[in-house]
Amino acid sequence: MHIQEMLAEAERTGNPSFSFEYFPPKTAQGVQNLYDRMERMYHFGPKFIDITWGAGGRIAELTCEMVVQAQTYLGLETCMHLTCTDMGEEQVNDALHKAYKAGCTNILALRGDPPREKEKWEATDGNFRYARDLVSHIRQSYGNHFDIGVAGYPEGCDDNKDEDMLLDHLKEKVDMGATFIVTQMFYDADNFVRWVEKVRARGITVPIVPGIMPIATYASFLRRANHMNCKIPDGWLEKLEPIKNDDVAVREIGKTLVAGLCRQILAAGIRHLHFYTMNLAQATRMVLEELDWMPSPDRPLKQALPWKQSLGLG
Ligand code: FAD
Repeated sequence: MHIQEMLAEAERTGNPSFSFEYFPPKTAQGVQNLYDRMERMYHFGPKFIDITWGAGGRIAELTCEMVVQAQTYLGLETCMHLTCTDMGEEQVNDALHKAYKAGCTNILALRGDPPREKEKWEATDGNFRYARDLVSHIRQSYGNHFDIGVAGYPEGCDDNKDEDMLLDHLKEKVDMGATFIVTQMFYDADNFVRWVEKVRARGITVPIVPGIMPIATYASFLRRANHMNCKIPDGWLEKLEPIKNDDVAVREIGKTLVAGLCRQILAAGIRHLHFYTMNLAQATRMVLEELDWMPSPDRPLKQALPWKQSLGLG
């Protein structure tokens, strides 16, 4: 099922929905642990999941393998991330074909980050320079088979802080055929709401999915917020800093802060939230519980468990 249809359903019914993002782990044991966790987190009721693209060799293969596993065997509607500037057209086509064969119908089309050893991004030889080139390539190759998402940056991105220019480039990606936008993580709801208004003023009408990063520990919260240049709202550090060495207390306060952010976003009319799980369940689950979104007799899990039912286990 296309993500835009799921987002339209949340919009139509007014019932909020959510999705989870996972990344390919480095070790075989890590992969197995993640599959187990993905199955457990299926019961939290995500509408779909994303698997990030790990640029280069084995990690890229692993992204494809995880998409097959999630879509085919775990029965989770899956969106495969795909970056384009670090790969030739043949590799891009190979990844798309694997997703197609697995029954995956959603791609998040991205340019990609610079390789670790380079500080700034430089174009490599090849057909793809920007994410918009990948969007256009997927549309030309697969028509409407894939729903195509693109990245949006409410607080600017690493190599471009010019908001107007970023909006121009976002519009280009949508004009090339993207049908939804997923944002970089942020904690400043007011800025996000203002950014959404600017996106709409540009004539961009596709759904916008905010990226939410739950707080697991104080160190990881600060590291990620600084890495992404996220503005931390007034009062957050005052609440978290005094308890920074107590992970349990940080998660308790963190869940109320992040649930508050989610409520502000919902109040602005957005109906779907995307959680950056960092491959962990606890902090995301705590936010969902705080929002009262975990399945319960009042809010039963709607999705069937197709792989279990087909085995007579459901
Ligand atoms: P683009 O939209 O191509 O933009 C990149 C830069 O080029 C911007 O500065 C933009 O302003 C500029 N630009 C675009 N078009 C033009 C033009 N026509 N002329 C001049 N300049 C232009 N990275 C991974 O490696 N794997 C992942 O799975 C992954 N998932 C992500 C998911 C989300 C939701 C987000 C927000 C980011 C993700 N990233 C991932 C990181 C992403 O690859 C980087 O942020 C990358 O630096 C930019 O990618 P983009 O698709 O936004 O690029």
